[in-house]
Formats: sequence, structure tokens, C-alpha cells
Amino acid sequence: MLFTDLKLIKPILDALNKQGYTNPTPIQQQAIPHILNGKDVLGCAQTGTGKTAAFAIPMLQRLDNSAQTSPRIKHIRALILTPTRELAIQIQESFEAYGANLGLRNLVIFGGVNQGQQVQGLKKGVDILVATPGRLLDLMNQGFISLRDIEIFVLDEADRMLDMGFVHDVKKVIAKLPVKRQTLFFSATMPKQIQSLADNILTAPVKVEV
Ligand code: AMP
Repeated sequence: MLFTDLKLIKPILDALNKQGYTNPTPIQQQAIPHILNGKDVLGCAQTGTGKTAAFAIPMLQRLDNSAQTSPRIKHIRALILTPTRELAIQIQESFEAYGANLGLRNLVIFGGVNQGQQVQGLKKGVDILVATPGRLLDLMNQGFISLRDIEIFVLDEADRMLDMGFVHDVKKVIAKLPVKRQTLFFSATMPKQIQSLADNILTAPVKVEV
């Protein structure tokens, strides 16, 4: 299978071409059509399988499509929660690369550094926010971030969130999301606690596994 078989728009295909990607990985083949259709997805996949592109590519296409009918929306439209700074940076770089020919603005925020630059970035306007849970809650509590217009929410590496003790923070974030949204949930393993979190936040999800 080729990326050109996946009903992707030309600006995205061009960006993938520039990255040297021609063939979608198994998780990408399975997940991209469902995400493009607006479905919730429960993905069982580890880092290294191409899971970041599996959610980033169709998210960019959906956000780009709806941007054409509505005027420039001021609030954040997509949120990706991930457990570590390294993952957050990688994910933001992926959105930057695959979305290079689109007009969507992305930003990454994480703890352990001064918040000043991140706040400046938020003030300029952000469509896609990649965040670690602690810093996100911190900036939400200070009034710099509202999640009320989130259209797509991604919970990445859910099992690692649990291992790192972030589940309480993650639940606080989820409580602030609009009920009507698309949710994409990724975890390498599915212990009971993760399965029940998934059951709570997904609506009729399609399961993809690699
Ligand atoms: P991930 O599992 O998201 O961490 O991705 C693993 C690596 O595979 C990253 O370095 C990506 O840039 C790369 N990658 C993802 N999708 C593809 C693809 N379809 N073809 C070639 N490389 C890819």
C-alpha cells in the first residue's frame, strides 16, 4: 500500500514525500482511514511502529478541512497529551513536518523549564498543542489555556502515564474537555486500569493493533 491510496490531500502527500515516506506502516494503514472518518480509535502500539504519524497525518487533514469553512478559530483545536518532554518534542516535530504545507500552528509545552516562552507561544494562537500533563494543568490553572474548543484529543502512551503516576493529572485534563470530540487513545499494553480509562473516554472506538 502507498500513502497515495489513503485519500490524503496533496499538501500532506507532498510533505510526506519530502520526508521520504512512501509506504504507510501497518498501524498507519489501519488507523488513518478511521481517524479521517471521525471515529474514536483505541490503538495498541509501541513507539517505533509509526504511531505518531498514524494520528498526526489524519488529524492535520481533518483540522485543515474544517478550517476552510470556519473563520480563524482563536482557541486550541487539538490536544496531544504525552508523558515525557522527549516524546512531546518528537510529536510536535512530526506535526510540523507533515503539516509544513498547511496553515495550522502547533506548539509544545512541558515542565522543567521556564514557562515564559511557552506562554508567549500560546498568546500568538495555537491550533495544535502537544503537552505533558503537569505543565498543561499549570498553565490551565493560570488561565493561559482553555480546552473548551478541543475537537480532537490524543492520549499517547497511556500505560506510561500510569507508570509515571500521571493518571490523576490526566483525569483532571479530561474533565475539562468538551464531551463532543474525537478521542484517540494509544498504549503499548492494556492493563485493567488502562482499559477502564479507555472505556471511560472513548465512544464506540475502532480497535487497531500491531
Ligand atoms: P514512531 O513510532 O511514531 O515513534 O515513529 C518511528 C519512526 O518511524 C520515526 O522516526 C518516524 O519518522 C518514522 N516513520 C513513521 N512513519 C513512517 C513511514 N510511513 N515510512 C518511513 N518512516 C516512517
